[in-house]
Amino acid sequence: MGGRFDGRGYGDVSGVLYDVSTDEDAFPRQGVAVFLASKGITDYAPGSKDWKREVLFTLVHEIGHGLNLPHAFDDGRDSALTWMNYPSRLDPEVFWNGFDHSFDERERHFLCHAPHADIAPGACAYATRRSNLLSGGRVGDAAFRDVPEPEDGDERARPLLQIGSLKPHYVFGEPVFLKVQLVNEGTSALRYAKAFDPSDGLLTVTIVKPRGEVRLVRAPFALCQNHRLRRLAPGGRVAFDGIFVAFDADGAIFDEPGRYTLSARYAGVPGHILTAPETRLRVLHPTREEERVAILVWDKPLLMRAIGLRQPLIARDDWESYREAVMHRLPVDPGNTTPAFLTYTAALGWMKPHKPACAPRGYEADLIKAGAHLREVRAAHLPSGVVRKKRQIARKLRRD
Ligand SMILES: [Zn+2]
Repeated sequence: MGGRFDGRGYGDVSGVLYDVSTDEDAFPRQGVAVFLASKGITDYAPGSKDWKREVLFTLVHEIGHGLNLPHAFDDGRDSALTWMNYPSRLDPEVFWNGFDHSFDERERHFLCHAPHADIAPGACAYATRRSNLLSGGRVGDAAFRDVPEPEDGDERARPLLQIGSLKPHYVFGEPVFLKVQLVNEGTSALRYAKAFDPSDGLLTVTIVKPRGEVRLVRAPFALCQNHRLRRLAPGGRVAFDGIFVAFDADGAIFDEPGRYTLSARYAGVPGHILTAPETRLRVLHPTREEERVAILVWDKPLLMRAIGLRQPLIARDDWESYREAVMHRLPVDPGNTTPAFLTYTAALGWMKPHKPACAPRGYEADLIKAGAHLREVRAAHLPSGVVRKKRQIARKLRRD
């Protein structure tokens, strides 16, 4: 049980499934969390009947994901009365009147008859199943598929999706961020969910590697959240440039030099499944030192997790030796964002307290340290969130 989710989505995120699987260090579907300060739960008085109902529902729902059950609407069962649906997608009153606190027949069939590896946490990664008793759960699987087209003249809305990288070429081992943009090219407003990261469950990013290997970017965790729909006026555009894809739950992605092709699908505009035209980026051939520094990360799943979660303290020793190598062994290269990204990540780590449940002691947040790191960060070619964070912490430090 947590307070509020500290990341994209914040109060809208009511639960999370952690799903990380790499060869030597496999923990797929072994952790779930429920956020008691999320909007879906704080709508009700703590301790009241409805509050208990929401907490229990979210908890069983997340455990269901842990047992490899997808959202009912990802499996074509949009109106199923089960723990695995979102009551808000149906009429909540209809849902709660009909719901009898059970999984539906398909889910029960899966739980009773699927192979052990499909169900047991720690075995198959989320949404990967040996049986075909259930489908769905893959990132972007039609979360808004069967939502009827809004009636307010939306056929004149023309949503357009674009995806690209923040730089045309990258140094070997450099962090790669992607930017996705939604443009309304129509003459009437459209509604969209502002959920542009693969972990939000509505965006699927596909990357074709230089030798043809296809990678579907799989986030190390999946957020269950209330996707409130926002309005995008004609001619309007909205973008998110913080999609971190240097590595995902399955490990490194850009681990060979050459040309990579990016594409994306987005299910966050009701009534549409949008496809972005392909774009490309190139990873340059490394020097010996650049390659050595890059593999320091790719051989260490825990360090990748620490960087992915922007909390170096998760893998402190590996982090220190990696940082040391980046700062002192990489050739001086203003075009390489790796040092700036690492300094930024160190700053974020100091912005919040860190206390693992099993550790004897934790770390307090240290805004002075965070500020000192952030001042050094050159934000060029990093996501716009970096500049925002720099300003935010500078303001905070002035206030204190
Ligand atoms: Zn869910």
